[in-house]
Amino acid sequence: NQKKLVYRRILLKISGEALMGDADYGIDPATILRVAGEIHDLAEQGVEIGLVIGGGNIFRGAGLAQGGIDRVTGDHMGMLATVINALAMQDALEKLGSQCRVMSALKINQVSEDYIRRRAVRHLEKGRIVLFAAGTGNPFFTTDSAASLRAIEIGAEIMLKATKVDGVYDSDPMKNPDAVRYEKLSYDEAIVKKLGVMDTTALVLCRDQNVPVRVFNLFEPGNLLRVVQGEAIGTLVE
Ligand code: UDP
Repeated sequence: NQKKLVYRRILLKISGEALMGDADYGIDPATILRVAGEIHDLAEQGVEIGLVIGGGNIFRGAGLAQGGIDRVTGDHMGMLATVINALAMQDALEKLGSQCRVMSALKINQVSEDYIRRRAVRHLEKGRIVLFAAGTGNPFFTTDSAASLRAIEIGAEIMLKATKVDGVYDSDPMKNPDAVRYEKLSYDEAIVKKLGVMDTTALVLCRDQNVPVRVFNLFEPGNLLRVVQGEAIGTLVE
């Protein structure tokens, strides 16, 4: 597959749930290796990859708050969950032979590097995959917002949002067989129609800094490479 690549530097966002496989909690080793394989293949092609992984497969602050835990503490737990996921992904990528670094927005520098933008960019230039962990480092944000922020900071040409479905639909394709997929959307349409692409904060950041977002199904093998080769799969928000 020798097609030309249209992006040189990308930011890929994967939800924590994408690592669960068929389980309803935690990390499934076979699933994380498969996802890592797609990312490794892309890095081998010379694409510079920043990666943000969520934490929803372990903890979400809002869910913990419903169970009675203080929201800010819950968000701290959620951010630490993203660190756990990033370490697991780093391990999986290294097993495949990729070079990578976890950089955390919260200082836990015996476990991972601290996030410093210039160092992150340097890692990318050297061909290392950078895993941005602990979200934005602040409560009340999501890892989608962290992904938008890091995409902008590292000068990614596009943010790729991996999902379990084939893009953004006008209604839930799991429930409605007549749901129609959008091929393109404007940021404002995505915000106003509340299509669940990402939260508003994340969309507004991308809109204001002109970072396009492609929502696509990462569970279709080869899709990640296809997107970077410029194939119009999923939904483009721009
Ligand atoms: N979180 C946070 N600040 C951030 C990013 C994440 O407090 O900048 C917390 C928040 O509690 C969130 C949890 O980390 O629920 C896990 O992230 P997210 O829900 O975005 O994960 P995903 O849904 O992508 O798996």
